Amino acid sequence: DSRIHDIKNRIRVVPNFPKPGIMFQDITTLLLDHKAFKNTIDLFIERYKGKNISVVAGIEARGFIFGPPIALAIGAKFIPMRKPRKLPGEVISEEYVLEYGTDCLEMHVGAVEPNERALVVDDLIATGGTLCAAIRLLERVGAEVVECACVIELPELKGRERLNGKPLYILVESY
Ligand code: IMP
Repeated sequence: DSRIHDIKNRIRVVPNFPKPGIMFQDITTLLLDHKAFKNTIDLFIERYKGKNISVVAGIEARGFIFGPPIALAIGAKFIPMRKPRKLPGEVISEEYVLEYGTDCLEMHVGAVEPNERALVVDDLIATGGTLCAAIRLLERVGAEVVECACVIELPELKGRERLNGKPLYILVESY
């Protein structure tokens, strides 16, 4: 698919951001190109349209860029999964382990009903800790996580293995 090739070319790699040794995958340059951004969203829509998905969960912050247009196109609601103390209502939280320390994702209670079919969206999977926490939040309220979708995978970090067999769909691999 030539669209994939074009998307890959529009992702900028910034060395040593946010700290030395990290090759940061920057999707803001993809967003500058209308055709490549639209192709990105269209590829996800083609995959998820008609799959009976009722909720798209976007992970802060870049899941908030890709999640909503997918949700609108497939007729699902959108819910934000946020960093701690950002959501005003009652929340449930899941901690996950980072290289140094832990982080946490929160979701509003009542945003998702039991037995809903969910898609989790983020820009990138590295170690898989973030997506794993998002899956746990949705499963705690009784939702079925149908799949996780990211624009980019860093396959060397083997994040896929942390998803406990949940399917992961990605557009681009980066090494
Ligand atoms: P993981 O939990 O290790 O899989 O890290 C994934 C999370 O970190 C996602 O929310 C990404 O947005 C963010 N992240 C990690 N590395 C990068 C990167 O190179 N570019 C953009 N986001 C990144």
